[in-house]
Amino acid sequence: MAENKRYDVVIIGAGPAGYVGAIRASQLGLSACVIEKEKPGGVCLNMGCIPSKALIHQASHFRSAVGLEAMGVKLDRSGLNYEKVFKKSRKVAETLSRGVSYLMKKNSVDLVAGAGVITGPNEVTVDGETKIAGAHILVATGSSPVELPAFPVDERTVLTSNGALMLTELPTRLVILGGGYIGCEFAYVMNAFGVEVIVVEMLDRILPMEDPEISTLLARTFDKRGITIHASTRAAGMRKTSVGIYLDLEPADGDAFSVSTDSLLVVVGRTPNTAGIGLESIGVETEKGFVAVGDYYRTNVSTVYAVGDVVASPLLAHVASKEAEIAVEHMAGRRSARRIDPDLIPTAVYTEPQVASFGINEVRAKTAGIPHET
Ligand code: FAD
Repeated sequence: MAENKRYDVVIIGAGPAGYVGAIRASQLGLSACVIEKEKPGGVCLNMGCIPSKALIHQASHFRSAVGLEAMGVKLDRSGLNYEKVFKKSRKVAETLSRGVSYLMKKNSVDLVAGAGVITGPNEVTVDGETKIAGAHILVATGSSPVELPAFPVDERTVLTSNGALMLTELPTRLVILGGGYIGCEFAYVMNAFGVEVIVVEMLDRILPMEDPEISTLLARTFDKRGITIHASTRAAGMRKTSVGIYLDLEPADGDAFSVSTDSLLVVVGRTPNTAGIGLESIGVETEKGFVAVGDYYRTNVSTVYAVGDVVASPLLAHVASKEAEIAVEHMAGRRSARRIDPDLIPTAVYTEPQVASFGINEVRAKTAGIPHET
């Protein structure tokens, strides 16, 4: 049991950072305890990568029916029961979350249910009651969707990715604010299931982190499938009426206009979960909201490390897991890389076509004067 036991590492958060860090700790002979206030697996398994990929997988099957029709097969696609699609995605997420609990147990990691708050450089208190001591603390509390004051989220018609993943019925029309990878993956899914989709992106193209050529290719494919993209466009505000939502859009060059929709999905970024976890009580520094870390993801308080979405590195599950391994290996006195090289992180966007990238792109190579081929 966690109470009155002193661990080598106490981890707050059981996402891809926390549970992977705990298992690595155990493999290295360290005793580890993970505190989780929701479900094991974190955002990735419960409200992110896994349920979204389960929807994408089903959307891809549904879309491929179009190809069968071209081969002369008669199909009636009017019978789509989206609730079943939703349920399947939840089943996949729940199975994997249970798998994470099992893995932790198998590796002798103690899992404590509740909200953890740091109450000392070597102490975390759960739900204000149970005190757990640790030689080290690993903060792996992840991130939450950014909300915009002009678009108050109710998770019914104005949604974050959380609400969009929990829809049991499809809207007829959906506007997606944000053309990053999460926005594009939702655009792909919703369009495949027959929803009228509009994507609004403030920057000059969708997938702005990718090579411009890739953004153009995906935008063209989206366009052919009937997805409307308004790039270089700011969403200024919205009005809700009995027949839907009116969204005011301001293009960088051109006149302002409105579009109407049934639902609005706001996927404009994520914010680190640093509030209320006791960082300030022991003087852990933050920078622009993220926990500030140095080599081995150690904070300015030598017993405290932070990894995953709560630190300023690409918000990706595999990055979170690798950072946790580096931090824990350092706690165990192992030699390992000091940090992940940001240029050596693979990324993938599960649209159709899929987009994968690694290393620096052409624009950055040009800017840095690195010889490259087009
Ligand atoms: P999280 O997964 O956020 O886990 C943090 C955990 O800490 C949560 O379970 C939370 O409940 C818990 N917690 C927070 N505070 C406390 C507290 N005080 N006490 C106890 N527990 C606490 N990444 C990819 O690599 N590939 C993808 O395809 C992909 N798809 C995504 C799709 C969507 C829709 C979203 C939203 C994200 C996606 N991501 C993807 C990103 C990925 O989910 C995150 O990068 C990853 O989950 C970060 O892991 P983490 O462990 O740092 O944090």
